[in-house]
Amino acid sequence: MATTAHYRVVIVGGGAAGISVAARLRRKKITDIAIIEPSDKHYYQALWTLVGGGAAKIDSTVRSEASVIPKDVTWIRDAADGFSPENNTVHTAGGRTIEYDALVVCPGIQLDWDRIPGVTDTLGRNGVSSNYRFDLAPRTWEFIRNTRSGTAVFTMPADPIKCAGAPQKIAYLAADYWRQQGVLKDIDIHLVVPTPRIFGVPVFADALDKVIADYGITLHTKADLESVDPDARKATFRSMDEGGAGFSLPYDVMHVVPHQSGPDWVKSSPLSTGLPTGYVEVDKTTLQHVRYPNVFALGDAGSTPNSKTGAAVRKQAPVAAANVAAQLAGEPFPLGYGGYASCPLTTSRRHMLLAEFDYTLEHTPSFPTALIDATKPRRDMWYLKKYGLPFLYWNLMLKGLA
Ligand SMILES: Cc1cc2nc3c(=O)[nH]c(=O)nc-3n(C[C@H](O)[C@H](O)[C@H](O)COP(=O)(O)OP(=O)(O)OC[C@H]3O[C@@H](n4cnc5c(N)ncnc54)[C@H](O)[C@@H]3O)c2cc1C
Repeated sequence: MATTAHYRVVIVGGGAAGISVAARLRRKKITDIAIIEPSDKHYYQALWTLVGGGAAKIDSTVRSEASVIPKDVTWIRDAADGFSPENNTVHTAGGRTIEYDALVVCPGIQLDWDRIPGVTDTLGRNGVSSNYRFDLAPRTWEFIRNTRSGTAVFTMPADPIKCAGAPQKIAYLAADYWRQQGVLKDIDIHLVVPTPRIFGVPVFADALDKVIADYGITLHTKADLESVDPDARKATFRSMDEGGAGFSLPYDVMHVVPHQSGPDWVKSSPLSTGLPTGYVEVDKTTLQHVRYPNVFALGDAGSTPNSKTGAAVRKQAPVAAANVAAQLAGEPFPLGYGGYASCPLTTSRRHMLLAEFDYTLEHTPSFPTALIDATKPRRDMWYLKKYGLPFLYWNLMLKGLA
């Protein structure tokens, strides 16, 4: 197929990562940049948790893609569907072949709903919802609002997912709402996680154990949702322990988080880590591809072993932009990424604690702990989540300023 276009930098995906990197490259005066992005909408997904908890409006989480594409960057409105890194080209579903000097891959992560039998048949109906989809987050709130008694189940899958805190945050928002309504005592809440504790960093796990006890939530660890029987309204879990016993729970309302992996077309490409995850295989510090030096990846689709969050993207974008610029100029890489990620854990509809950590899984606070101890639920952190972080996202991060 004939090459239809050549750009100095081609970015695949115009989400949090793609737009941030494009903006930063433009600030470095790099020209001739194109973003391949099929969607005409750009989403601030981090607020979907609050939408599901009845604390934000879904409309505030979406803007037109055109409004976030930096000036002087070409938007190719098409979906990438393959890479030929030996030829420095990307292929698209629309039949184009696009050539690059440097490639940045950030098409996000794929939601593998089909891996939990029974879920797709009932999503958005009969009390089952998920904040992981724009159209479903408002349904989550509808189901929570309409529940007055019964059993509520919140699940988390066993593989890496974007925002690993989101599966539990919605449980706390729901429990807080039910407490406010005076019905918490009538609802049997189960939170089921695949990990040995509720969070991987002990200081936050300790704080969250107290939150769970305070709401009277039953925490099940080392278990993964195996299937859903929508007719019987029953969820079946397998044990993560070898030979461990599985169990079933009835539900009246259930929040499900799907398994996630690299997009199928990335999985089968030469850039991939291979099955089962299928991420773009990059060095965890430089974000450069391990086999193709002029290819970089960041965000949820990258293989870096950090917690997949927009907060991680915010720290990766300056590194990716600086190293792409250095690659084009034939200079050494100036920046490295240390694995920073953060998880704003909403523990009620007024409180949040901010889990910040890096590759070492040590607490890496942005604020001096003596002044603002964000390892405990705080009111000011709630305002940061509801107002501060969305402002930061739309006005600073996507413009390459933070
Ligand atoms: C419910 C929920 C809660 C979250 N909470 C938080 C939080 O509190 N804090 C936080 O920091 N993060 C949170 N996140 C995670 C955060 O949204 C992601 O980590 C972040 O958006 C990753 O950025 P990305 O650019 O890699 O992917 P995305 O932002 O998902 O963007 C990927 C882009 O690639 C495009 N694309 C897809 N396929 C193709 C293709 N074939 N060709 C070209 N483009 C393609 C998509 O249309 C999209 O625009 C949350 C996510 C969810 C779902």
